[in-house]
Amino acid sequence: MNTGALHLLAALAPAEGMVGAACTGLAPLFDSDVDGETTRDRMARHERATAVCEGCRVLNLCRASLDTLPPRTDGIWAGNLLSGKGHR
Ligand code: SF4
Repeated sequence: MNTGALHLLAALAPAEGMVGAACTGLAPLFDSDVDGETTRDRMARHERATAVCEGCRVLNLCRASLDTLPPRTDGIWAGNLLSGKGHR
């Protein structure tokens, strides 16, 4: 399960120019897994989250932050599904 990606984003928002992040208030849409969810439901949810990212006004800034995220970060970030097993 996502360990709070959106909470982290919300916390960073004012300081890092992430104001206007389209994911604000949409948790757990961006979580890697949700308890009791089927694989099909999870894939559909991730597609919805990715679509939100594609329309996000801070997508480029979010994408640029990927390299700064802890390696165990998971969930949808900047339209990418991070596995929590390291990224990039
Ligand atoms: S690109 Fe996606 S994860 Fe990043 S701030 Fe926007 S909606 Fe949130």
